[in-house]
Amino acid sequence: MLEHPYWLDTLEQTPPSIPTPLPSRADVVIIGAGYTGLVAARHLARGGASVVVVEHGEIGSGASSRNGGQVLTGLKVDAATLVSQHGETRARELFDVSTRAIEDVEAIVSEERIECGFERTGHLMAAVKPSHFAAFRDEQALLARVFGQRVELVSPSEQRAELGSNRYHGLLIDPESRAINPAQYVHGLAAAARRVGAAIVTNTAVTSVKNAGAEWVVRTTANIVAAKNVLIATNGYTGRATPALRRRFVPIGSYIITTEPLGEARATELLPRNRMAFDSKNFLFYFRRTDDHRLLFGGRAEFSAPNANTTRRAAAILRQGMTEVFPQLADVRVDYAWGGHVAFTRDQMPHAGLLDGLYYAGGYCGHGIAMATHLGGQIARRLAGEAVDHPFVNDRFPAIPFYTGRPWFLPLAGTYYRLLDWLQ
Ligand SMILES: Cc1cc2nc3c(=O)[nH]c(=O)nc-3n(C[C@H](O)[C@H](O)[C@H](O)COP(=O)(O)OP(=O)(O)OC[C@H]3O[C@@H](n4cnc5c(N)ncnc54)[C@H](O)[C@@H]3O)c2cc1C
Repeated sequence: MLEHPYWLDTLEQTPPSIPTPLPSRADVVIIGAGYTGLVAARHLARGGASVVVVEHGEIGSGASSRNGGQVLTGLKVDAATLVSQHGETRARELFDVSTRAIEDVEAIVSEERIECGFERTGHLMAAVKPSHFAAFRDEQALLARVFGQRVELVSPSEQRAELGSNRYHGLLIDPESRAINPAQYVHGLAAAARRVGAAIVTNTAVTSVKNAGAEWVVRTTANIVAAKNVLIATNGYTGRATPALRRRFVPIGSYIITTEPLGEARATELLPRNRMAFDSKNFLFYFRRTDDHRLLFGGRAEFSAPNANTTRRAAAILRQGMTEVFPQLADVRVDYAWGGHVAFTRDQMPHAGLLDGLYYAGGYCGHGIAMATHLGGQIARRLAGEAVDHPFVNDRFPAIPFYTGRPWFLPLAGTYYRLLDWLQ
């Protein structure tokens, strides 16, 4: 079993490490070369700014080449909660952002001709209990009435046309969601940013950012850069260099396994319409097919940050989960296992704005492919001086009480959500 993202092995060739010297001065320093940072870099460099993206690892080595490649409609918070927390008008505004975010991915993929398997496959949500399928009916009505979003329900007796599993009690289908190859996408974004003049310096970490009057002094593991503005695009990997943002993002581990190639017929039997899939638990499983007919199967099997031990432990849990959903896969080999960090926020909403003079965007709560693309663009517009009127772009983002960046409460939260899954 290889312990690295399957997606990296789908890149046509290993992306060349382009040696780029770190300039001593730039208009904008962007910390992090994932979707957020690269979309912002492209926008700002297009506008004529000198931009340098500083990346601790390789391009996309954070969540942007590690995710499940499911570009889903909606936000992390479900439609009913959104309405109960914000009222219908505001809920509609927030929900609409998720639709605009998918449109942004569509636009950038087509403008930059990024070959990344971006396809309107739709998604299915599978009811873990009969009561969850009953709740899907309410969700269907609410989505249509408040958000103008049409979804279909598939009863248990008909679900074989969508899913080769007897584990679930009916499905909710949303035809608007998309599939993407995340690593191909992030490398396409990097190439696009470079084409318009942004410098991307990899294997270099920002160690501190200090204010020096009219400019920022950005210390890195290479040299120091003086910048007029700084954008923190580190999401689930936000560290000590930016302590204020670290008090607002909670990094949570998410893990994925990928089977050996199953052959077209066997893979098609699992997900006949090639949907993106996930179940209705809090501690959910998500899965999809790949172009070479593997099953990719993920979940929050471990809350802690990935390392060799947690990845192997999570792989065993996920394999067990996968064979409970698809007993027909009991004999298949798992070829890949890996994990990555997602960033949660206290209100489970993404945030972008200005914090202590530094720009930031993040907190996508595991729904970041489209939202990072979207908010990377929005925060870049704001940084460039445009007036941005957007529900997620504002400077109100309170720190989480009693939290400095080490999520001591995750084991408790894990137990709580497991209990909820058992009860609900
Ligand atoms: C296993 C997994 C599955 C997921 N599945 C999905 C999915 O199916 N659909 C979906 O929409 N979203 C999914 N997500 C979430 C999605 O991948 C993220 O929301 C998105 O990639 C965030 O992009 P980003 O650019 O903000 O952050 P990242 O891609 O995480 O990039 C942050 C970068 O900052 C760098 N960095 C951090 N600190 C420093 C420093 N001091 N100096 C320099 N560089 C630094 C890191 O090395 C990293 O490369 C998943 C995430 C994971 C981990």
